[in-house]
Amino acid sequence: MRGRGLVLLLGLVGVGIAFDKGVWTLPAGWNPWQPLSVEDPLTPVTRWKLGRLQGDRETCLAVLARAPEAALSYAPLVDHTPVAGCPLENVVRLERAGVAFGSSFVAACPMAVAWLRYERHRLQPAARALFGQPVAMVEHYGSFACRNIYGREQGRRSQHATAEALDVSAYRLDDGRRIEVRRDWGDDDAAGEFLRRARQGACDVFGTVLGPDYNAAHADHFHLAMGGYRVCR
Ligand SMILES: [Zn+2]
Repeated sequence: MRGRGLVLLLGLVGVGIAFDKGVWTLPAGWNPWQPLSVEDPLTPVTRWKLGRLQGDRETCLAVLARAPEAALSYAPLVDHTPVAGCPLENVVRLERAGVAFGSSFVAACPMAVAWLRYERHRLQPAARALFGQPVAMVEHYGSFACRNIYGREQGRRSQHATAEALDVSAYRLDDGRRIEVRRDWGDDDAAGEFLRRARQGACDVFGTVLGPDYNAAHADHFHLAMGGYRVCR
């Protein structure tokens, strides 16, 4: 046993020296020291980095500034309190990502980064695989709402209260075809499969994803939120 332990230790030292000398480089998405990029694959390391953007305005805005989406359009907002009791910090107004939105919305900066990662790594690949074309536009019911978690008079604030959640109601493809959560969820066709992948893929990026399977309050939209209890339903 002692012999194996020594071999393991020497192995680890060797690996450490190799990295230190730059003999090996970590694959994209696995280097905890490299700043997050929208293009980095979805890994536990990039998920951790996304979480760390929450309290780091400068780093977060830098990630947005480096994002490769040519159509991306947003404006950083100064911290403000639109509704008493719900101050907003580190937020941007997101006009466009890779996709257009039914209307622009206020998003916490990490939420905007999360959306871009969702779009690039999960949403568009699903649309291309099933329909041979990308999603052009996303319809939603909004992001900011100063309230507690649905159905609770007291207790925890909803992630909408800090603009860290978005309620997506429909996706419109390049050719104009509209796929609607309320109408198409659970259908045994390409639209139903697309929504299933759109929901499941969101779970790889967002902390909380709630849809029609969760409860009746989500029958017509996906609730995509940054943190929370890590629910995916
Ligand atoms: Zn919601």
